[in-house]
Amino acid sequence: MALVNENFLKLAPSYLFSDIAKKVSAYKEANPDKRIIRLGIGDVTQPLAPAVIEAMHKAVEEMASAETFRGYGPEQGYDFLQKAIIENDFKARGIDLSIDEVFVNDGAKSDTGNIGDILSKDNIIGVTDPIYPVYIDSNVMAGRAGENVDGLWSNIVYMPCNGENDFTPALPPSRKEADKGKCPDVVYLCYPNNPTGTVITREQLKMWVDYAIENDVLIMYDAAYEAYIQDDSIPHSIYEIEGAKQVAIEFHSYSKTAGFTGARCGYTVVPKEVMANTASGDKVALNKIWLRRQCTKFNGTSYITQRGAEAIYSEEGKKQIKETIAYYMENARIMKEAFAEMGVKTYGGENAPYIWVKTPQGMTSWDFFDALLKEANVVGTPGVGFGPAGEGYFRFTAFGQKEDCLEAMERVKAWLGKK
Ligand code: PLP
Repeated sequence: MALVNENFLKLAPSYLFSDIAKKVSAYKEANPDKRIIRLGIGDVTQPLAPAVIEAMHKAVEEMASAETFRGYGPEQGYDFLQKAIIENDFKARGIDLSIDEVFVNDGAKSDTGNIGDILSKDNIIGVTDPIYPVYIDSNVMAGRAGENVDGLWSNIVYMPCNGENDFTPALPPSRKEADKGKCPDVVYLCYPNNPTGTVITREQLKMWVDYAIENDVLIMYDAAYEAYIQDDSIPHSIYEIEGAKQVAIEFHSYSKTAGFTGARCGYTVVPKEVMANTASGDKVALNKIWLRRQCTKFNGTSYITQRGAEAIYSEEGKKQIKETIAYYMENARIMKEAFAEMGVKTYGGENAPYIWVKTPQGMTSWDFFDALLKEANVVGTPGVGFGPAGEGYFRFTAFGQKEDCLEAMERVKAWLGKK
């Protein structure tokens, strides 16, 4: 008799974006003449850079001939891409990595979800709240989250981020301060942040690294949006902080950096220094364990896609993706300015493609969603969908078309102006 993993049954049956899609399609059915502008789901709209397309075409041609055809590649990625990653994303920032510390993948969702495979079920997980849902849901699936009590998981340490603390989460209790609450064993940090669009300063990130070293905490650092950082003082990688290689695994994605949401490619850095403990207290290097996991469960990202990713690092590629990022950041600026004119408080949007709006007049996130859809025919994402501390906030993405952002803001102005 096959037994199911009952942890899956603990998860809410419906997913945030499918709830949104249902509401939007019901509205469309009732109002077929209305044009809805979607600034909700975090998907890009601009095509792949010409340099990427050219490299992919070339790779397709190689696949067409027996002499240059490629079959299975290395599970951890081709070295041409690993080398380009190390040179451009790390060496250029003073960080030394070796090839076997970089694991190319099919995007950051897989690895942020799968990384828990190599960790014991008994870890206490810490998360900032609101949060990219994969971090929590994947830990629920693994049986690490405990029970859901009024929307919070009993074994998860939540670190609320809101306007009151300027989206800077307080450090959780240390191991010595057990009377003040649980010290997590693993903490997920995401900067620039999805959903709030806020960033972490070098000093704040150093506090996390020091905390992790002192308390033997493993940091899962999601840098999926680092390419959107405009301010030179903001770190792009946690390894810019001294000591971070001992305590952090870092996730990168080409999805938002270079429009790879459909092409699928990213990478994970697992430094050789980063350790976890056995129950009897021995230290084990996670790099080897992750390699073992990948070689068993993952057969590599396609050669064509990896050649496309490599082209992001060419001179033309760099220039082209910068232009696309500037296009999205202009959308962010348009929206932020428009909300400021309306007297609506926003966060983020300066070093990230997300604007986090404080819902006006004390509306809940879902009330704002419903009213925005009905009154302005604009779709965004209710903040509470990313965690309890997101209640009273709303996320707009800058990944739309500029014309849509302009029109959406005119409509919102007309609606809120009437109120
Ligand atoms: N991490 C964060 C914070 C994200 O917002 C996303 C996607 O929206 C991902 C990871 C996953 O990206 P992908 O799997 O497309 O690389």
